[in-house]
Amino acid sequence: MNYKLCPKCKLNYIKENQQMCDVCISKNTNGVSYGRSKYGPICEYFTFTNEMRRYKSGVAYEAYNSDQKNVGYVFMSDDDRTPAYGHCEIHFYPAYHNKYQEWRRITSHGRRIPWKELLQKLKREGSCKYYID
Ligand SMILES: [Zn+2]
Repeated sequence: MNYKLCPKCKLNYIKENQQMCDVCISKNTNGVSYGRSKYGPICEYFTFTNEMRRYKSGVAYEAYNSDQKNVGYVFMSDDDRTPAYGHCEIHFYPAYHNKYQEWRRITSHGRRIPWKELLQKLKREGSCKYYID
């Protein structure tokens, strides 16, 4: 397998058959993302509740879509090589992979949601609602 420089950032090497590196893909979650064009923006209100579960070394909280369905859980993006680090990311349950994909770094009105902000809201209000793009 040959490698080439990512055409977008010109910083990271990617496999010949990839369109761009993971960092650039994560920056393209608004609108159509490269290599994942099947998944457009979410455009839905999501509710996160203070129902806590263990996730890796930390915690995660249940996520509900606009139909009040428990579709996955929200956790802190822990990959410090990407700009999503320290912000909210959702892992969707298998039944919702077709609809939302498996992992999703989320934004609300184009802004990443800081994990600390979510924690504060959950502590204060028990649950919180975000429009997810
Ligand atoms: Zn790149």
